[in-house]
Amino acid sequence: TKEKEGNSYQFYDCKMNNQIEKKFDIAESLRVGLEKREFILHYQPKVDIKTDKVIGLEALVRWNHPEKGLIYPNNFISVAEETGLIKKLDEYILELACIQVKEWEDKGLDPVNISVNISPKLLNESNFVEKVESILINTKIDPSLISIEITETAAMRDKEYAYKVLGQLRLKGIRILLDDFGKGYSSLSYLKDFPIDVLKIDKSFVDEICSNNINSAIMRAIIDMAKALNLKVLAEGVETQEQLKLLNDFNCEEYQGYLFSKPVPVKEIEDMLKERYKK
Ligand code: C2E
Ligand code: CA
Ligand code: CA
Ligand code: CA
Repeated sequence: TKEKEGNSYQFYDCKMNNQIEKKFDIAESLRVGLEKREFILHYQPKVDIKTDKVIGLEALVRWNHPEKGLIYPNNFISVAEETGLIKKLDEYILELACIQVKEWEDKGLDPVNISVNISPKLLNESNFVEKVESILINTKIDPSLISIEITETAAMRDKEYAYKVLGQLRLKGIRILLDDFGKGYSSLSYLKDFPIDVLKIDKSFVDEICSNNINSAIMRAIIDMAKALNLKVLAEGVETQEQLKLLNDFNCEEYQGYLFSKPVPVKEIEDMLKERYKK
């Protein structure tokens, strides 16, 4: 029996080790991938509900792995967070977005705002504002063409700090979006004087507005409150015409979602933007 026990323990250990090893593997290849600059951006349009025009883009990272192909963030963001590599990754992504803005400007396309997702790990670096500043200076772009998406939970972790940093970025002309709003613990009162421009309502909320009366009432209340506070509201993950109609009835201004477009590679978004100018 001893042998048996030994074996089952060994089996258990082995399974745990595999998981740990897997994380090590991802962490190690993330490190290599960062050095080799294997990450690219896909862009999802942000759309004005009233006019159906593209008014901005969200940059979403993809890992263009030499052997495994295109890898989506759900497969590596958490390891990047745990290892702290997310700081380098997000800095690199911000730089890529700025370079893209510049490239379109050089090509003579109408300017379009790009938002990037910033991890709380990077936000909490003491020199984050300086880092952003130097990227803006190096790429020579207008800061008002960049937005930063911070999750509600990240902003609330240390309110005073977030208040200060987001305020400084905003003074430079960068727009601030509070991402995944409604997903975590939301206290609406802090929003009163928080330095943000847009409330981005989480998909899980949008999913339920047509099927759940309470959710639609909350959605309406959030939108009304945001208006009273002079904030724009963007609904994410809009997939159906019914959802869009309801959001429009509630006077929500902007949306993103598969209904209009999935995040797409740069070439496709460029074509979409060129179409926009023709109209
Ligand atoms: P997020 O910031 O909330 O981004 C929205 C996610 O929902 C994206 O997934 C997007 O492709 C997806 N989405 C958009 N519209 C729809 C829709 O109508 N239906 C459905 N089912 N999904 C929709 P993605 O690109 O896989 O990114 C997942 C998450 O990974 C992001 O959630 C964000 O938290 C994180 N992430 C992505 N790129 C970055 C990055 O550059 N830096 C950091 N720190 N996190 C990132
Ligand atoms: Ca986001
Ligand atoms: Ca979001
Ligand atoms: Ca979300």
